Amino acid sequence: MGQRVHHLNCISTCPLGGAIMDGRGGAGLRGRLTCHCVLVETATELVLVDTGFGLRDVADPPSRLSKFFLFLLRPEFREEMTAIRQIQRLNYDPRDVRHIVLTHLDFDHAGGLDDFPHATVHLLEAERSYATAQRTMLDRMRFRPQQWSTQRNWRTYAYGQGERWHGFHAVRDLQGLPPDILMIPLVGHTFGHAGVAIRRRNGWLLDAGDAYFYHHEMDVLPGCTPGLRFYQWMMEKDRPERLLNQERLRLLCLERSDQVKVFCAHDAVEFERLTGRAAAEPPSASRRPFSIETHAW
Ligand SMILES: [Zn+2]
Repeated sequence: MGQRVHHLNCISTCPLGGAIMDGRGGAGLRGRLTCHCVLVETATELVLVDTGFGLRDVADPPSRLSKFFLFLLRPEFREEMTAIRQIQRLNYDPRDVRHIVLTHLDFDHAGGLDDFPHATVHLLEAERSYATAQRTMLDRMRFRPQQWSTQRNWRTYAYGQGERWHGFHAVRDLQGLPPDILMIPLVGHTFGHAGVAIRRRNGWLLDAGDAYFYHHEMDVLPGCTPGLRFYQWMMEKDRPERLLNQERLRLLCLERSDQVKVFCAHDAVEFERLTGRAAAEPPSASRRPFSIETHAW
């Protein structure tokens, strides 16, 4: 079975550091990273994987986001790049987004939740419990409860239950969703971080979220920019698990690239390779939602 999939960059960030962060430069002291979300059209409804930044983040950033991350990442707050506006541009009704699957609850993944108040939000229980505990100063800056008006619709899953899938364990399907969408625990960046696998006609897509940040990290001889290496170190909750999961992802990319296509949330090169369009551009309008499949991946 194949499902129609749209890749959406739900607002770029412009991190301090330029090429030291994104490996490309081009914007002087500021680099460019994506917030790569995926819209899946099943037979009857829409499923959104991660939400990027949302309308309320665009309207009033200081009320939603920490000063520290606003300064460090300086998101490019263009309303047309929010998930809800891109979904409307594709001629879908945002009310058809019945499910949201979250890789984790960081501010740059959960900001659009409030734009889909009726959706059921699927995430690992460990993510919910650590994010809501607000234990450290960094936790309070990265996990922003003001973005979570959907909290009463959250459906959480215990880590450990599930099956094996391409070298990963505790992989599970999600309540109310077809078995073509799977949650793949990829703990490390946060305690409840997960990837999301989506079955396509000719293989799987694996959205690895923030399990890695830079496309060369998936090479045989992995490499990363100093800036993104530092950022991942600063944000990691479980370093051994994070590195182990990166190794598993690397193996998957090297050995099964014909069966599974892996990408992460913030790499603009991967986004542009997958979509064939610049990360700063919204998708072009689609005339026939809930119709035939059009994309190979
Ligand atoms: Zn992120």
